[in-house]
Amino acid sequence: MSQMDDINSYLDDNFDAFVDHLRQWLEIPSVSTLPEHRADVAAAAAWAAGRLRDIGFPQVEVVATPGHPLVMASWMIDEAQPTLLVYGHYDVQPVDPVDLWLSPPFAGTLRDGNIYGRGASDDKGQIVLVMAALQAWAKVAGQPPINVKMVLEGEEEAGGESLAAYLPNHLERLRADAVLICDTHMVNDLQPSLITSLRGIVCAELAVFGARSDLHSGSYGGIAPNPLHALCLLLSRLKGEDGRINIAPLAEHIPTPSEAERQLWRDDSLGIASGLLAGMGVAESVGENDYPLLERIGIRPTLEVHGIVGGFTGAGSKTVIPAEAVAKISMRLPSELDPQQVFTWLEEAAQTLMPRGYRLEVRCLHSGRGMSANPDHPAVHLAAQSVEAVFGRPPVFLREGGSIPIAALFSELMAAPVVLLGFGLPDDEVHAPNEKFSLQQFRQGMKTVAHYLGRLRREENFSPAMPPPV
Ligand SMILES: [Zn+2]
Repeated sequence: MSQMDDINSYLDDNFDAFVDHLRQWLEIPSVSTLPEHRADVAAAAAWAAGRLRDIGFPQVEVVATPGHPLVMASWMIDEAQPTLLVYGHYDVQPVDPVDLWLSPPFAGTLRDGNIYGRGASDDKGQIVLVMAALQAWAKVAGQPPINVKMVLEGEEEAGGESLAAYLPNHLERLRADAVLICDTHMVNDLQPSLITSLRGIVCAELAVFGARSDLHSGSYGGIAPNPLHALCLLLSRLKGEDGRINIAPLAEHIPTPSEAERQLWRDDSLGIASGLLAGMGVAESVGENDYPLLERIGIRPTLEVHGIVGGFTGAGSKTVIPAEAVAKISMRLPSELDPQQVFTWLEEAAQTLMPRGYRLEVRCLHSGRGMSANPDHPAVHLAAQSVEAVFGRPPVFLREGGSIPIAALFSELMAAPVVLLGFGLPDDEVHAPNEKFSLQQFRQGMKTVAHYLGRLRREENFSPAMPPPV
């Protein structure tokens, strides 16, 4: 038997224990955005540190930050070998509406071949599978085949400020030849994918002001400025029924995709578009229907309204003309665009399109850059080979519609490729009630990562090899 066979057997033989690890971690309600869970977030960090020590990491540290702690670990085996930095997040989203959960959100319940719980797929399950792969190497070979560093944060769902502040000042400590992030999903359970780009994001508020105070619609209706109505006009001018975003410089800066990419989007031989429609439970998509859905998810900018605040929304009626109204919006952007730049374009366009007779404030809430990974880099190649070895088919390279700002920061600051190898499934209900992770994905994921660690090892007869460390 080869060493890889031994490792696969170890992972199969100990699978129940790994499920149990995940269950333990899911029981800790590490909701980073809710102050009442602060101690739980710390407990989840301590749990991770304990696991990494158990696996055999010689260096494990829980680093305090102004926010939630970072868990840092490193296992350096040989300077001549490449170093992989694994990033993940141990914090989770809130669970409301809790009534819609079929089993308790912080229990790790097994049902229908899945484990249910907040964080099962995003991201605890995907970190535990990396830990399992490392444990298998440690037990079978005594150590990982390459140098491994880990950084786990507890603020990913809350903006990730502490790690973003830590990173630039600790580049030496985190230096690696490649960064592995398992925090995305595959096309379906048969078709793995590697993410080659993430969209950037800018979140903003549009605040519209009219009269100096709320007014009575009998005394002033028809002549008074109504900020709620004006806000709706503004929103429909910023993005019309055809889905086009009316911010002139934006259209000029959308990157041109390759012909191969266009082909993939047009053909959609994997039926991703119909999966997206089914996932939404709708018969047709809205907006820019002259573009393929995959192109719209991957590279077209978006402008979405998330909420509008203003006036009276209680039961019954109240004939108030509100003095102000606020819309919360976000824009997802192709990875090549700078979100701060786009915010200034948004601000200019909104001021120009604003109906007369109002004052508009455009506020940036936060922004994060997108990222793109070179699919020809050896670290990405070797990941693709590892996926194929375990899943029996090569991954497709996709642009992801979501944003992982820390991935962009890693790629920018560390000059290392970021490998986005996720094992979630589209129906994992991340951020929603009944989040789950498929146990089969959990098992295949640990085998893939174990394989990848082995493939990254620099050997004379191995090609394509990782370039020498810098
Ligand atoms: Zn996540």
